[in-house]
Amino acid sequence: MKASAHYAPIAQRLFDDVRAATASRLGVTRESYGAGESRAIGILTEFARANGFVTYVDRAGNVTFSLAEIRRERPVLCGSHMDSVPEGGNFDGLAGVVAGLLCLLRQRDEGRRGLHPLRVLALRGEESAWFGKAYLGSSALFGRLPRSLLDARHRTSGATLAACMREVGADVDAIAAGEVLLASHAVAGYIELHIEQGAVLDDARRAVAIVPSIRGNVRYRNIRCIGQAGHSGAVPREHRHDALFAAAHVINELDEYWKTMLNAGADLVMTCGVFGTRAEEHAISRIPGEVDFSFEARSADHDVLTGALAAFDATLKRTAEEYGVRFETGSLLQTAPATMDADWIAVLEQAATQLDLPTQHLPSGAGHDAAMFADAGIRSAMIFVRNQNGSHNPDEAMRLADFMDGVELLYEGVNAFV
Ligand SMILES: [Zn+2]
Repeated sequence: MKASAHYAPIAQRLFDDVRAATASRLGVTRESYGAGESRAIGILTEFARANGFVTYVDRAGNVTFSLAEIRRERPVLCGSHMDSVPEGGNFDGLAGVVAGLLCLLRQRDEGRRGLHPLRVLALRGEESAWFGKAYLGSSALFGRLPRSLLDARHRTSGATLAACMREVGADVDAIAAGEVLLASHAVAGYIELHIEQGAVLDDARRAVAIVPSIRGNVRYRNIRCIGQAGHSGAVPREHRHDALFAAAHVINELDEYWKTMLNAGADLVMTCGVFGTRAEEHAISRIPGEVDFSFEARSADHDVLTGALAAFDATLKRTAEEYGVRFETGSLLQTAPATMDADWIAVLEQAATQLDLPTQHLPSGAGHDAAMFADAGIRSAMIFVRNQNGSHNPDEAMRLADFMDGVELLYEGVNAFV
């Protein structure tokens, strides 16, 4: 692929420059609506201007890049996020924006255009690590940033989100009022290239995948199992109300349910990421009276999520009776699964065939801004690029050749999209 060879060194330089400007003790640190994110945006803005692109800061503080020509057709947005988790990897988010810039360059160089003008969108604030909530930049665009979130504090500086947004030129009053800053009907489609954050593609020996859906989730953040503390030597089993044995029983039951669902072909992952006895009172000789844990199920299928939740609630009820304990779940948090646009998927499949690029469908287990765009009624698509060593860590990797395969697919997809 001749085009890839020409654009690969440009991509490499952008990745290197952004990495150098946002390096931290380990990996890179690009705070949402903060300094690292702004430095990364600054580098891409400089690159865009040097190439004659038009740059524009929207009212949520995100930045758009496009060719200087004026076209009235509704644009296709190619976006991803500029922030990272603390001490994260260089490619999570950044890869998608760099990919978009390469497509703009290539459109300019080759004089090729799609039906819809391409606009590259560098989104702010996708990672929940900084203010406790994900998709800040995209949800602000659709008037969906909860007002109360503007008072959330940055995990290290303590500054409020409102102050950080104002600092980068966002219209905080409009965001607080829930004003729609980007009308869905003004956009023809949204596409996002992103590194895969698991190891499926690496195992399958494929460079890229087309994403059919983004998993939604159901979550209980703080579940408390309340039993009765007691002496570990003196209380016989039938008199015990062991909170930990009860909670562990719940998880074992869930694991069985999960296996059954997988055998039936369902898309489902389940996690108890938090699990613990009270450090201030636990002891080797004490029957735990209280255990705190979390529950999360993710699926691309709405019915599977509903079923998992019902199974979880039923397991709690049975276990409470069997072990003589009580469960307090707190409030349920839910995010609906997002389906990617079938026409977009067909366009990408055809482009992959023409490029002789082996692909597969791979649902996204992690959340992405594309889910916000799909939820706002915009036809959305995603391309995954193979990535080694996982994600949200400094060892995250991506081979440049794989990335360029993804960019080829993105370029053909954007140009063919109608
Ligand atoms: Zn990401």
